[in-house]
Amino acid sequence: MKSAYIHIPFCDNICSYCDFCKMKYTKEWIDEYLNSLKNEIETFYKGEKIRTLYIGGGTPSSLSIEELTKLFEIVNLLNLECVEEFTIECNIESLTNEKLILFKKNNVNRLSIGIQTFNEKFLSLLNRKHTKTEVKEKIDMAKFIGFDNINVDLMYALPNETLEDLEYDVDEFLKLNVNHISCYSLMIEPHTKLFIDKIENIDEDLDYEMYKYIEKRLTNRDFIHYEISNYAKPNHESKHNLVYWNNDYYYGFGLSASGYLENYRYDNTRNLKKYNSHNFIENITKITDEDRLKYELILGFRKIRGINKEEFKNKFNISIYDVPNIKELLKSKMLVEDECNIFISDEWIYRSNEILVKFI
Ligand code: SF4
Repeated sequence: MKSAYIHIPFCDNICSYCDFCKMKYTKEWIDEYLNSLKNEIETFYKGEKIRTLYIGGGTPSSLSIEELTKLFEIVNLLNLECVEEFTIECNIESLTNEKLILFKKNNVNRLSIGIQTFNEKFLSLLNRKHTKTEVKEKIDMAKFIGFDNINVDLMYALPNETLEDLEYDVDEFLKLNVNHISCYSLMIEPHTKLFIDKIENIDEDLDYEMYKYIEKRLTNRDFIHYEISNYAKPNHESKHNLVYWNNDYYYGFGLSASGYLENYRYDNTRNLKKYNSHNFIENITKITDEDRLKYELILGFRKIRGINKEEFKNKFNISIYDVPNIKELLKSKMLVEDECNIFISDEWIYRSNEILVKFI
């Protein structure tokens, strides 16, 4: 069994902070892109049963009903008879009832919706187009149609954001009554509109305060903080994202997608012309046993429960205590352990990067 990610790089609207591989939705480009995607899947997919499937972007919901219908025909080239989790990313403004029904008909069982904030001044700064009423209406409709597994993205540490602003957003997000919330601190990346406009990241202490505030509010409402940026109600952790953090294999299809299969990691081209001339893969790296172990640590410690000692031993044939740096990190209390697992301590999880780089 494998997992698969499919990238749809088109968006109705370009957000001012976005450095993903995306482009403005252009009707004339979609057909050719979908044909290339079909060709890529037909060329590289070996027919395994797919356990988790994630269609991300970009904004997959920006496609029209006809285009989505064609996308699902392509998706059905994959063996989905045992699929446990099938997620599609959506934006509120392009999510119609007709599309929700189409998703349901095609066995999508999880929606991931980009919201980021309800605060109007930040919505306009981020160039996001929804209103609070629209968000509530669309999520209610999705639930009515039968989607009970919904993630929403929340963004914090926005320029000049105060703790009161964040409190308002967290209140509104909780009112949506969904079972998964991903929380990202805004990072202003080069080449984005915010960067060009010389907008700066907020003070790091405030960023930390906001991180802790979100953690406290969500865990008080029965969300489990299971990964640095992710919270889920019990049994609603993202199975697909856990594939990445568990260092398991997955296909990546589409422009800029990455995959990890049979000891090779690969990245697809970010160049649409190249992709459409079926030069899909930009680079492939052979993963040695040593690389595999490093990935296990770097990805595994992103999970709040960290790494299971027994599973690690079975996978790598060595004790995790024999991995360089582990004993020192335990001694300094940056890592802590219980009977089964080793994980980053509460005090360090916000600064986990400082620990993770030690394994590179
Ligand atoms: S919708 Fe998502 S992918 Fe598209 S521009 Fe905004 S953040 Fe980027």
